[in-house]
Order: sequence, then C-alpha cells, then structure tokens
Amino acid sequence: MQFLPCFLCGAKLEKRTDKNHKPYFVCNPCGIQLFIRREHGIGLLDRLLRDAAKNEIPFKHRADEVYQIQALLTEITGVKQQIERLESQITFLFRDETKVRACNLLKTKLENLFHELQQITELKRAN
Ligand SMILES: [Zn+2]
Repeated sequence: MQFLPCFLCGAKLEKRTDKNHKPYFVCNPCGIQLFIRREHGIGLLDRLLRDAAKNEIPFKHRADEVYQIQALLTEITGVKQQIERLESQITFLFRDETKVRACNLLKTKLENLFHELQQITELKRAN
C-alpha cells in the first residue's frame, strides 16, 4: 500500500489519484489536501513510495513521534493548569501545607515532562 504520514497529525494517508491521473493525499481530520501536480514532484513521490517496506519503518516511527510529542504537550498543559490553580489557592496568610507540597510535586513532574520532550526532539535531530 502507498501512503504518506500527515505532517500535522501523523495519520496514515493513502495515495489517491485525481481525474488527470495525478497523485494526491487527503487528511480528513486536519482538512489537508496535498496535490502533487508537477513531474518533478511526482517523480520524487514515486521514488519515496517505491520501496514501501523500506519506507514504512521511518513513516511509522515519525507518526509515533508526533503522537508522543502531542501527548506530552497535552500533559504539560494540564500540569501547568493544575499548578496555577493550586498557586491561586495558596495565600501567604493561610498556607495549606498539603497544597504547597502538591504544588511542588507538580512542578517536579512538569520538569520531568519537559526533559522527556527534550529527549524526543534531540533524538529526532540526531536521526
Ligand atoms: Zn492530519
């Protein structure tokens, strides 16, 4: 099967052919339509898709990475919101030690998430 990963969400996009026999790809969730109209691009695409077995590994790997990064970013946003909520509840007049501790734990978790994200992007650069 011939496919490309969506460059935004990483979904597997099957190669389609339009009425002029030109290849194109559609990602419905993202609303992306990718048309390859010139011979140069079509040639490059054919070369890219020729050995499907060889290409499947990096494509799958890249798609997994996209999902991994998205999941991390979602988690980072969630933890940040939790910290902000807790910090707004902690006042100098009434220090709730449980909330202070929870806040500190969340900050450590946030650091770890950033570290994880950094490792993925560094790995990507090294490849
Ligand atoms: Zn997409």
